[in-house]
Amino acid sequence: MVKKKIEANKKATIKKKGRPKKKVRAKKREETKFIGKVTKIRQKEPAIVIEWPRSLTHVHTYGMLSPFFEGLRKGELRATLCPNKNCPEKRLWIPPRAHCPDCHTEMTWKPLANPVIGKIYTFTEVVYAGTGIELSTPYWQVDVEIPGLATIPKSYLLHGMPTIGMKVKAEFRTKNPTNTVLDYYWVPYKE
Ligand SMILES: [Zn+2]
Repeated sequence: MVKKKIEANKKATIKKKGRPKKKVRAKKREETKFIGKVTKIRQKEPAIVIEWPRSLTHVHTYGMLSPFFEGLRKGELRATLCPNKNCPEKRLWIPPRAHCPDCHTEMTWKPLANPVIGKIYTFTEVVYAGTGIELSTPYWQVDVEIPGLATIPKSYLLHGMPTIGMKVKAEFRTKNPTNTVLDYYWVPYKE
């Protein structure tokens, strides 16, 4: 205890020398308050269940698929292609693949020339979207055949009524992009 007191005195001396003397008064503390939002009781029996909303930031990397999202920002649909000459799969992939699903070679990138015209392979109306879907409902989810692709990517029709075989054109949300796959969509195409 004595030693502590001496140390405290030393500190006080240093303070006196270095800075002008200033009286610090502790603010009068107010009563501690609850600043949260009151939870809702969902059920009381057989045990209490409360609804306690929580939000979180999900940090996610696009990794080797980053060029696809860079492309969307520029109004470009970029596919991947296997560079292995001996690979049986010569077609393009969208959604892109970092490695060839057939021979595991690292893929190369190939942007599709605009306008990208596809054909609706199938469609469904989304009325009750799952949690986290960031599109207003109801909306048309469309699977679109694109020439030269090994895949039939899923996206959405911005407006209009889909029919099987209908021609559609890819458009991009380059203004205020979401930086997700929602940044490309289809619109009816008339030749
Ligand atoms: Zn391959």
